[in-house]
Amino acid sequence: MIIDLISDTVTRPSKGMLDAMMNAKVGDDVFKSDPTVNELQEKVAKLFGMEDALFFPSGTMANQAAIKLHTQPGDRMFCDKWAHVYNYEGGGAAFNAGVTSHLIDGNRGMFTAEQLTSAVSGRADIHVPYNKLVCIENTTNKGGGACWDFTELEKIQKVSKENNLAFHLDGARLFNALVAKNETPKQYGELFDTISICLSKGLGAPVGSILVGSKEHIAKALRIRKLFGGAMRQAGFLTAAAIYALDNNVMRLAEDHKRAKEIEQVLNSLSYVKNVEPVETNIVIFYVDDSMDANDFISKMKDKNILLTPMGEGKIRIVTHLDYTDIMHEKLLKVLKEF
Ligand SMILES: *Cc1c(COP(=O)(O)O)cnc(C)c1O
Repeated sequence: MIIDLISDTVTRPSKGMLDAMMNAKVGDDVFKSDPTVNELQEKVAKLFGMEDALFFPSGTMANQAAIKLHTQPGDRMFCDKWAHVYNYEGGGAAFNAGVTSHLIDGNRGMFTAEQLTSAVSGRADIHVPYNKLVCIENTTNKGGGACWDFTELEKIQKVSKENNLAFHLDGARLFNALVAKNETPKQYGELFDTISICLSKGLGAPVGSILVGSKEHIAKALRIRKLFGGAMRQAGFLTAAAIYALDNNVMRLAEDHKRAKEIEQVLNSLSYVKNVEPVETNIVIFYVDDSMDANDFISKMKDKNILLTPMGEGKIRIVTHLDYTDIMHEKLLKVLKEF
């Protein structure tokens, strides 16, 4: 038995999901004639109370299309120094959209309205780039699955509005935040111009992300997705999995959160663990004692068929997910205690 806790992307489609995929009605989505793609897009737009939505092959492409549609080359976007859009998309903001990233020194991937205010103020003359876009990430990946305080997001949106900045949410794991904080998609739909959501993470679909926004923004995204090479044909086989995921796998995210909490508790009781970041959703980030090397620890766990991932600066990451069973959970806790 291999216990793979590298990411919540390692899940395989369940029997029910595979059945939904095999039975999907499909067509050519480039001609907008795939009914199952249209069904997903309408479903998610409605869920968020937004006008339209567009299915993407990856979260990276959905974020990159959003950055591109909100900006012109030379413009500036604001994000946290730990943001996925800055750190883990291959430099795409600069490559695809030609934008400069202004990094805000936040806490666990989250900054305040006050920090944004000070970042956007300052000289505005021919020397400085145009301020165009603010990107938020909820939950934060590098921040260990932390969730933003919604009232702070409202304040940040106000600052964005006052400064004519577009407001994008990288909501790769937004459903984890919604379940953990008892929030609704519509709250977020009202606040943001565009939101990207991964269907292939905690929700358990094999492929895909979706971008929601106004008709105008999604029309631009459609063109950008084409030029990025992300227009697909019988994609309904994939969106059938996504529809199944939204219908069946949202509320169960609470299970992943509960198990992550239990892992946190055990780690906190162990003498060789130096620190565990507070767990809010399905990501656990911890540090082992200085006498032990993080990579060494990861490789010894691998010998016991437990796969974890290093996050740099001595951080070790565990991500709980749909395919992480009770038996695996018991075994992991036992191995950690006996290590
Ligand atoms: C996973 C992830 C993405 C998108 O990743 P893809 O692998 O391209 O689907 C974007 N943002 C965050 C915060 C993520 O965790």
